[in-house]
Amino acid sequence: MARITFLGTGDPLNEERTQTSLALPVGGDEILLIDTGSGTIILRQLQQAEIELAQLRHIVISHRHFDHVGGLAPLLVALVPLATAAITIHAAPETLQGLHDLLALTIPGVEEWLGPRLRWHELTPEKAVPIGDATFTPFAVEHGIECIGMKIVQAGRSVVFTADTKPCPNVVRWATNADLLIHEAYGPHSGSASAHTFGHSTATDAGNAANAAAAHRLLLTHLRSSQFATPQALAAEAAEAFGRPVELASDLDTVEF
Ligand SMILES: [Zn+2]
Ligand SMILES: [Zn+2]
Repeated sequence: MARITFLGTGDPLNEERTQTSLALPVGGDEILLIDTGSGTIILRQLQQAEIELAQLRHIVISHRHFDHVGGLAPLLVALVPLATAAITIHAAPETLQGLHDLLALTIPGVEEWLGPRLRWHELTPEKAVPIGDATFTPFAVEHGIECIGMKIVQAGRSVVFTADTKPCPNVVRWATNADLLIHEAYGPHSGSASAHTFGHSTATDAGNAANAAAAHRLLLTHLRSSQFATPQALAAEAAEAFGRPVELASDLDTVEF
C-alpha cells in the first residue's frame, strides 16, 4: 500500500485548516511534497507529521496561488543550514518562472545560498516522470491560470489529485479507474455559478467526476471554512453523485491507497 499525508486541507481563507500541502513517501526515506501551504505553518505541519526537512527531496507546485506556494520561501530558507539538503522543485513552465520571481521578490539570494542543493525541473503536461519510486504525470486542469492536476502511480496503486479546478474533462480522463481520487470541493451545488467563476468545483462536480471516471474512492479536500459549508454536507452531496460513500480529508490525516 502507498500512503499520502494531508498537511493542509483548507481553502485560502479557511482559518480552521492549514492550506494545501500533501506528503508522499517515494522510497527510502524520501518525501515528495505536493504544494506548500500558505506560510511558515508548513514547518509546524511537517514537524507534527514527523517528517524531517532533510527527507524532502521533491516539491511539486500545482499553481502559483498563495495557498499553494506560500510555504515555499520559508521551506527553502529552513533547508539552507542543512548540508544534506537536496531538493528538486517541479512545476509547469509559467508557474516555474513565477516561483523564481516569488523567491527573487521575497527572499533574494536563497537560490545562491542553496547552490547545487536546489534544482528546478520543468514539467510538461501529460509527460510522465519518475519521482523516487513513483511515476508522476501532470495534466492541465481549468483554474483560470496555469494549474496542473497529477496522477501518481506507485507499487501498482494510483492516486489522482485535481489541485484547483472547475469541472474538467482531463480530471475524468486521468482519474479513470484510479484507486483514489483526491478532488477539491469549493462548496455545495447551490453555489456552482460562483464556484465555476472562480475556477473551482462543487461537491456534486467532484462526485460526478469520480462517477464518470469509475474511480474506486473519492476524498474531498481544499475545504472552505465551516461557516460557508460543512464538510459533512459536502461529503453527503458528493456521495449522492458518486453513488458511493465519500471521504473527507482533515489536516494531518494519512490515507493509504
Ligand atoms: Zn488556486
Ligand atoms: Zn487553492
